[in-house]
Parts: sequence; structure tokens; C-alpha cells
Amino acid sequence: MEDLLQFLYLMPVGVVKFSADGTVDMMNPVASALLASITTSDTLLDIFSALTPIAPDLRQRVARFAGPAGTIVEQQWLRALAGERELVLSLTVNQIKDNVYMAVLTDVSRLSKQEEKLYVDRKKFFAIFDNVRDYAIYTITMDGLIEEWNQSVQRYAGWLAADVEGRSMSLLQPPDDPDRPRIDLLLAEAQRIGSTEIEGWVLKRDGSRLWGNSVVTALPDESGTVRGFVVVSRDITERKGLEDEMKMLATVDSLTGAYNRRKGNEFLIAEANRQARNGRPFAVLMLDIDHFKTINDGFGHTAGDSVLCAFVRICKNTLRSIDVVVRWGGEEFLLVLPDTDAAEAMSTAERVRTATSAMEVTSPEGLPIRFTISIGVAVSAGDSPGNLLSRSDLALYAAKTGGRNRVILAS
Ligand code: GH3
Ligand code: MG
Ligand code: MG
Repeated sequence: MEDLLQFLYLMPVGVVKFSADGTVDMMNPVASALLASITTSDTLLDIFSALTPIAPDLRQRVARFAGPAGTIVEQQWLRALAGERELVLSLTVNQIKDNVYMAVLTDVSRLSKQEEKLYVDRKKFFAIFDNVRDYAIYTITMDGLIEEWNQSVQRYAGWLAADVEGRSMSLLQPPDDPDRPRIDLLLAEAQRIGSTEIEGWVLKRDGSRLWGNSVVTALPDESGTVRGFVVVSRDITERKGLEDEMKMLATVDSLTGAYNRRKGNEFLIAEANRQARNGRPFAVLMLDIDHFKTINDGFGHTAGDSVLCAFVRICKNTLRSIDVVVRWGGEEFLLVLPDTDAAEAMSTAERVRTATSAMEVTSPEGLPIRFTISIGVAVSAGDSPGNLLSRSDLALYAAKTGGRNRVILAS
């Protein structure tokens, strides 16, 4: 009995033994300290009065309890003011036997602070989730299933939580997009290196699409094992449009829509590299409009411009989709024909030449303009792009000096 009392006194929780009318029989120092901090000392002999500030209904609950033994209150958290400080007590009340009750009081203020912080952090987190304007944030499982959806994503792509929660992230990919990334590979990479970034089309709820940038970040638990992912996405359709336009402006001649000389050089290098790999020939055609100066002089510069545009249209209509038309200089054009031997190149050149001579362009005054072209053809036999260009140039010169409106194959 001595030992038991000693033990009770040293316990780090407050223990109060009382009878049915609330009379305190015994309490340990922790209990009296806790109670003293929330009530006045003259009430300490009556547990119901002592706990009135935080548990005013305790007397009734004890009275109502059927007994003869059992739990009346279980770890109920009660808030009290101890002077300036907020105190949170956990209260458990048991009936031990007839007219013998035991209250256990624990100070959980610190615990409660942590829990509250967690709660506030979570609320803050979701507030960010819901209120970010330019970003959409959502979480996905290891299998790529959408977990937490919110306002930000709804704003981003129109999908509601009910549409997407528990469904695969691939729901957000246009099914007919040949370039859509494989989600399993994407998640595997994020898991391997921590995070990965992609750009691509995102399917909106209304069926339209946006160009999105997404960063997928792995979410590891304390042990470092990845448990899921968070995706942060941004709608960059506008930026993508500007980028595409700038790319276009940087590669295309603004008058005719043909590729510019810089882009033409890139095609030549790419074709030369391709030939080095697969050994298949490709052809370049150097074309120059005959007596173009007389068109300008006779019909005006604007008519000359129309002729240039009409000529590019003829080329595009005559060629395959893999062939490219380059405006090499004023009225000089380069055609790059992949996977083409000398015979095919010559017949293509001949078709362009005939189509050109058969065409009529109308001047601003309504006058018909007819014109012809000369073409030098060179087929790559593994020579450098520079060499290939010189050969086609020489052939073009031969076509001009030979009387114009003709095709010459370079030696
Ligand atoms: P040839 O048969 O020998 O090729 O004679 P040509 O008159 O076609 O050749 P030349 O090089 O003497 O003249 C080319 C002219 O093309 C000179 C230039 O003013 C004109 N030119 C260059 N760029 C443009 C353009 O963008 N628009 C128009 N309208 N003319 C241009
Ligand atoms: Mg010319
Ligand atoms: Mg010229």
C-alpha cells in the first residue's frame, strides 16, 4: 500500500480519487497543480467544482453513469485558461467500484499545439492548393491515379474533382496526341531522380486543349520510400504560341513562306548526316528565275513579289511533303529532296520547270505575266554540303548560259 501510494504520487499524470458527490479522497501533486492552475484552491476538495470551468457537466455524467464500474469520460480534451496561458487537459474518468471514482488528468497543451500547427499547416496547404492562380497542384498515387484535386486544377483544365479523383492521370492527355508522354515512364523517372519536367498538350474538360508545363515531384516518406507524387502544372499556351511564331519567323522567309537560307543550311547538314548513316542519296536543286529583272522593270516590284510567291506555290504543289523549299537569295531557290537519286531528281526538276512555264501570274494592272526558270541539279555522293552547293551552282550556270528554261545535271 505504501509503495502504491508512492507510485501514485510520483506519476507524471494527475490522479484524483473521489466519491459520487465529488468529494476528493486523494490526489497526487500533479493533479493538484493542474487543478490549482485552472481554479481557486478552496474548490480543490470537490472535483466537480474544480472542473466546472472546463467540464461543467461532469457531475451529471457521473450521476447518470449506470455503474458499478467502467469508463465515464475517455481522454476528453478540455481547454482552460491558466492566467494568460491556454492549457489543454486530457480528462479520463473511471468508476472503480461503488462510490469510488478515479479521474486522470494529463497536460496535453504541447501536444495540442503540434496538432493545431499540423491542422493549420494543412489548411494553409489546401488554401494554397485552391487559390494559386497560375499554377495547378494535385497529387497522384504510385500508379498514376489522381488523388487530391482542387480549385486550382479546375481552373486550369475545367475538370471537377468528381470527374478525375481515383482515375488515371492519362485522362488529362488528348487520346489522339501522338507525342503524349508515357505516364509510367514519367513517374519512373521522377521516382529515380526526384522530379521531372514535361511540356505537352493537356485535354480540357470541354474537349479543347492547352499547352501545359508540368513538374512531377516524388513524395518520399520519412524512410525515403516514395509514396506518391505531386504535380505542379502551368498553362503556357500563350508562351508556346509566341515561341512557335518566333521559331517560324526565324526559319521562314516572310514574303514567300519558303524556308530561309539559314534553315536551308540546316536541312542540308541533316540530309548529309542522314546519308552518312544510311548511304541513300539525296538531291539539291538550285533554281533561278530567268530575266526576273525584266519582270520587275516591266510590271513593277509588287508584280515581281507575286511571281516569287506563285513560284513557291508551284514548288510546294509539285513536291512531296518531305521535300523542302528554301529561298536561297532574291529570286534564287534551293530544293532539298531527301532519298532521291539522279533520275528522280531530274524528273522532279523537269516537272517544276514545266509547271512554271505553264503558269500565268496576273500583275496589279491585270496583265498576264509568264516566266521561266533554270535549274541546276546535283545528287549527293557523300560530298560535303558546300561541295554539293557548288556543283548545283555550276549546273545552274550551265543552264543559264545554255539558253535558260532548262535543267542541267551536275557532273
Ligand atoms: P537571269 O536570267 O540571269 O537570272 O536574270 P535576272 O534578271 O533574273 O537576274 P538578276 O540577278 O540580274 O536580277 C535579279 C533581280 O531580282 C534583281 C533584284 O532587284 C530582284 N529581286 C531580288 N529580291 C527581290 C524581291 O524580293 N522582290 C522583287 N520584286 N524583286 C527582287
Ligand atoms: Mg534570275
Ligand atoms: Mg539570280
